[in-house]
Formats: sequence, structure tokens, C-alpha cells
Amino acid sequence: MTQLPNDLTHIVEADRAHVWHHLLQHKPLETSDPRIIVRGHGIRVWDQNGREYLDAVSGGVWTVNVGYGRQSIADAVRDQLVEMNYFAQSAGSVPGSLFAERLLAKMPGMSRVYYSNSGSEANEKVFKMVRQISAQHHGGRKSKILFRERDYHGTTIGALAACGQPQRAELYGPFPDGFVEVPHCLEYRKQWDVENYGERAADAIEEVILREGPDTVGLLCLEPVTAGGGVIVPPAGYWERVQEICRKYDILLHIDEVVCGMGRTGEWFGYQNYGVEPDFVTMAKGVASGYAAISCTVTTEAVFDMFKEAAADPMSYFRDISTFGGCASGPAAALENLRIIEDEGLLANTRTMGARLRANLEALMDKHPVIGDVRGAGLFVGAELVADRGTKEPIAEAVVQKVVAEAGARGVIIGMTNRSLPGLNNTLCFSPALIATEDDIQEITDAVDAGLTAVFG
Ligand code: PMP
Repeated sequence: MTQLPNDLTHIVEADRAHVWHHLLQHKPLETSDPRIIVRGHGIRVWDQNGREYLDAVSGGVWTVNVGYGRQSIADAVRDQLVEMNYFAQSAGSVPGSLFAERLLAKMPGMSRVYYSNSGSEANEKVFKMVRQISAQHHGGRKSKILFRERDYHGTTIGALAACGQPQRAELYGPFPDGFVEVPHCLEYRKQWDVENYGERAADAIEEVILREGPDTVGLLCLEPVTAGGGVIVPPAGYWERVQEICRKYDILLHIDEVVCGMGRTGEWFGYQNYGVEPDFVTMAKGVASGYAAISCTVTTEAVFDMFKEAAADPMSYFRDISTFGGCASGPAAALENLRIIEDEGLLANTRTMGARLRANLEALMDKHPVIGDVRGAGLFVGAELVADRGTKEPIAEAVVQKVVAEAGARGVIIGMTNRSLPGLNNTLCFSPALIATEDDIQEITDAVDAGLTAVFG
């Protein structure tokens, strides 16, 4: 184990001098210290000053599903590294085979796992597979990829072409052609005044398909529950209709489970809450809970077969490689991570604790009129803040940040929706580790209550 120096002053200075942090404006760090997280255990982390926090966002971005300090995962990775650390994935590995088998047992209808390193990359693989299917099976016509307003699929240029959060993408064009946006389905911010909102929001996808020409559309890519875009749980009837539409127009359905996968919503995968049968599922964060970098693109045998059919053509295989994708530490960590979720009954705990957190936040609505809406699935919960419940005018980002800071000052790290949604970065986000206890949920609730009181009185 790395021995931490008692005095972390040098670490802080080295960070300030040399590290470029993600998603951060660095100017304020000229006069204040960067936060350095030096230790984690269970649901808690400690910073360079020895300050303890309950981490209600699992490593900041809903990742550490089984919690910090898991010795058995570290042991599994260590043993694997000593035995066999790396060989390119044109060959197989022992943990890669075993994890694929264990994973697919949780995903009826799916049959192949393609390994890579990050959520962005896993999604790019789908986009490339679909473009290759279009080229080799549809004469290049069925190449368009539909994505949804407010969804996010990653940081690479291809994934940003499929970004429903405008400010994340706007400086980085030009993007590849053939990515088309469909409307979001958040009923709280209604776009249609109808009874059956779920069906109506799905029909809006069909309208885009008809406008574009069904023969030109190869893929529909959706988050099962939108994460950074606002913790958006699709309304009843949505998924059934989405599935019907995809089948009607022979469009492959891709569910981005980078956040929801591996138990976050109380099922192994978010789509399993809705009985959907996808053609592609991608996953990353919770796959190894941050103990190793691993992501998976999972698909059906029917899709896989399309890359075998033309074996006589020497270029019909999937022309893709990722040097570290599937390297043995990833699946070794993932195998042990999956065992922990199963053996510790974390799916059931997620459902119970998630319901408790939602109920607690709903109860706070009586006291804090600034909470406009509470929504979520499992331990993936959002509380949208509004200036006025009647008009639903969003609270300004700077004010939401103050609430997050007040909760932090009380020792609880909470999150907020991504800043790239102009005017709508107003939802507090909660995604504690799936091991959260009743006491943890109460501690989170109390910090939110106190934070809201500090900011709004
Ligand atoms: N998809 C979703 C739904 C995400 O939330 C993210 C990351 N926040 C990604 C994809 C990209 O994953 P990564 O950062 O590992 O590339």
C-alpha cells in the first residue's frame, strides 16, 4: 500500500503546479487548495486535511457501487497481474472469459461482450458496429444514429456528436455526420399536454424517424434513466412504445448503461426495470466500481453473426482494437465486484434504501418549497430545485452550487446535474454506494435539509 506522508503539503503543491483536473476552472485554485482525496473506506472518503465525508455520489460520478477499500477486489487484481497482466484481446484471458459468462447470465437475450476501457469508448464501439452493419448489409444507407436531448454518451468526438447536452459539445465541432437528436421525455418539464405522456414522448421519436426516412436510421441510443441530464425516469408506457418503434422500422436499440449498469437502479441493469429487449448494452462505471478501468459493449448473437456471415470477405470482421480493452486486471476486478453485489444482496438493499431516500426527500418538500420534484430509481435519485413551484422556474446554478457546498461543509458530498444544460443545471443528485445503510440515508437527508435551510432559510 502507498504510504501517505504525514504532511501532504508537497502533494497539494505538486497538484497545484502540475495537474490539470477534469471539468474544473483552475483560476480559483491559485488562491485556494485543490481537494485531494487520500483514502476511502465503505461509503466514506477522507481528504488531505483528514476531513471525513459521506460520499453520496460514489466517487463523484456514480461509480464506486460496492464502496471503497474492498480488499478482495484488490487481491483479485493483484493475483491476476502476477499471473498474467496483459495480452491483446485478439487472444482471450481467463478472467475475460469468466466475467463474460457471469455477466451474460444476468442479461437474457444478450450473448457477446466486447471489452474496452471507458464508457465513451464502449459507446463508440456501438456506433462503429452500426456503421459497419450499414456499410456491409444495407448498402451504406442505414447509418444514422439517433440520440436524445439531455442524454450524454461520452467525451470523444463521436460520442459528443451524440450529445444531448449542448454546452458539452459546442466548442468541439465539426462532428461526424448522421447524428440526429430526438426530444427528451421528462414529464416534469412537459413538452406535450396529453394524458399518456410516455407514449407521446416515444411517438416524438417516431416523428423524427419518419422525417429522416426510416431506411436511413440504423440506431437509437438512449440512457435507461438519464443521469447527468437530470435523473430522468421515463414515464410509464415510454419503453414499450420505443421498443415497438424500433422493431417497426428495423432500428437497433442501444441502451447506455454506463451509469445505471451493475445495480444502480436496483436491477442488474436499468433496462430490466422496463422489460426492454435491447440489441446493444454498454456499461462502464460500476462494472468494476473504479478498482480497474473496464467497459463492455454487449450485443446479441444476431448482431454478432452479421460480422461472421461474410467470412469469405477477409475484411468483414469488426475492424477495431483497443490496446488495453479487456486487459486482465479489468475483468478480474469485475468478476469479484459482481460476486460482491450478488453475495451481499446489494440489489435488494439498493431498492430499499433508494425508496427510503426518495421518501425522505419528498418529506422535505413540505419544509422546503424550493424542491420542485423528486425522482429516481434505486440509489439513483434527483431533487430538482425551482424558484417557484407553480412556474417551475429553475433555480440558478450558482445557488444550487451553494446548497452542494453547504452539504459538503456538513460532511456529505452530493452532486448536481451537469453544467452543460443551460438553465437546467438545477437538480441535486444522489448516488451513494449500494451498501448504504439507513443511518447513511438519514445522514444524507439531514445534510440536504440543513444545506437548504442555510441557503434559503
Ligand atoms: N454514458 C453515460 C450515461 C455517462 O454518464 C458517461 C460518463 N459520465 C459516459 C457515457 C462516458 O463514460 P466515460 O467518462 O467512462 O467515458
